[in-house]
Amino acid sequence: MPCRAGAREAVMGEEGDVFPCELMFNRGIGNVREWGYDLPGLMRGDAARQFIAWRRRERCVCTHECNTRTMLLLRPATLARILLRTARGKSACAGEGFC
Ligand code: SF4
Repeated sequence: MPCRAGAREAVMGEEGDVFPCELMFNRGIGNVREWGYDLPGLMRGDAARQFIAWRRRERCVCTHECNTRTMLLLRPATLARILLRTARGKSACAGEGFC
């Protein structure tokens, strides 16, 4: 599953420092205060792009559940399956690896 950290998700500290994921507190991508609280702009910035390039180049992989959920939800086949189950009135969490 492709990781989306730094592109579709991020973590923010209490002082506005933004990190691509909870496991990358050594790779900050900016501070929202310095970006005028423009988080989407910050996530399109050079530091975020450099992190994403690093993540792809290094093929970073983890099983951190918060990020795994984002990876699953942004995977079209999985998202379609969850929506279909939900539309049928079934839980998306039925022991099929969604939870
Ligand atoms: S694979 Fe895991 S540790 Fe690596 S960037 Fe993505 S969420 Fe962070």
